[in-house]
Amino acid sequence: MSSGNGQNTKGQPGITQAALFGLCPRCGSKGLWDSPANLAARCDACGLDLSRFEPGGRGLYLVVLPVTILLVLAALKLDEAVKLPVWVLVPLWALVVPLAVIGALRFAKAVVLRARLENEGLL
Ligand SMILES: [Zn+2]
Repeated sequence: MSSGNGQNTKGQPGITQAALFGLCPRCGSKGLWDSPANLAARCDACGLDLSRFEPGGRGLYLVVLPVTILLVLAALKLDEAVKLPVWVLVPLWALVVPLAVIGALRFAKAVVLRARLENEGLL
């Protein structure tokens, strides 16, 4: 017996799945990101025009700035707690900073994308 409910959200990925695994919020197929923190132009599976809903501009500073401040504070705390040599710190932060910024941007863009799609009734 199938559900006769018009708002069938079962099977759609959540925000975390969309951000981490690049799953389309409408059909759940892979391919939401075409670069580390940029949405693909459209979903290859369902044809959803993603570029129309991509957040950009100064609004993303609200995501990047707090992450940057937290990373600087974490670096200071780490240096205070454990005196790591520079040859360890450079590769450590070269790995942590891009991962943190890209992760935060992906999560924020997935939240905004989902909200905009719900506003337009596309989910
Ligand atoms: Zn799709």
